[in-house]
Amino acid sequence: MIDDAIRVLAGDCTVIAEDADREEYRGRVTTIVKPDNTVLVHDSDGYQPVAWLTRADSVSSERRDGFTLVAKKDTQTLRIAAHEQEGFAHYPSSAAGTPVGECPDCDGALVRSSGVHCVGCGNRYGVPADATIRDERCDCDCGLPKMRVERGLAFTVCLDRGCESLDAAVKAEFDREWACPEPGCDGDLRILRRGGLIAGCEHYPDCDTGFAVPAGVVDGECGCGLPTFETASGVRCLDATCDRALEGPLEVESDADD
Ligand SMILES: [Zn+2]
Ligand SMILES: [Zn+2]
Ligand SMILES: [Zn+2]
Ligand SMILES: [Zn+2]
Repeated sequence: MIDDAIRVLAGDCTVIAEDADREEYRGRVTTIVKPDNTVLVHDSDGYQPVAWLTRADSVSSERRDGFTLVAKKDTQTLRIAAHEQEGFAHYPSSAAGTPVGECPDCDGALVRSSGVHCVGCGNRYGVPADATIRDERCDCDCGLPKMRVERGLAFTVCLDRGCESLDAAVKAEFDREWACPEPGCDGDLRILRRGGLIAGCEHYPDCDTGFAVPAGVVDGECGCGLPTFETASGVRCLDATCDRALEGPLEVESDADD
């Protein structure tokens, strides 16, 4: 299941980097070719490569007079010729991330990078960017850790959507909970997934009012009648374009208007 490999070439090499100008180096270096075709040539000094090409369009290797790697990107070319080859190998690789638990399928490490994946078997779980992974395990059979996600309330659900659905939990709590704010519309807001989770008017397409459900917890009511959310960046209205979040509830505001 792990098909990403890092290629490593080590030895006494000549390295030629060509673009508008031409640089040539010679030394005992280690060249790393990443799965995305980024090529890094390291010598014994410091953390910075002597030469590199990020995400090359092509990286070809051919055995002729020692080992040769050729990486190309637009007008740039990076050639590495080994006079004396110490080693050439492929190693399986994955993204690295913060350890968040153990894979119930293979006992490998689960790590969090963009999503959560297993370093052992490569299993992947998509998680919202703002989710935090908990130590506690799912009470179902799957044995995966749980994640905590704020969508109106703080929900703690299984990492595997197929096992326990965040959408279903948010729906159970907030479906038809809020009225459509569109003047003259008597619709309720339904919880739906359209890319992300949204609260959208039940009369769609006649009424196209809809708001992405913010990452945060409902903490009050906006001057416009919609709920306000406490988020990492402060209090805001369900309607991201509404600037009345700090005015207070509707009743107070309508009194002031009378
Ligand atoms: Zn695994
Ligand atoms: Zn589960
Ligand atoms: Zn509506
Ligand atoms: Zn508002």
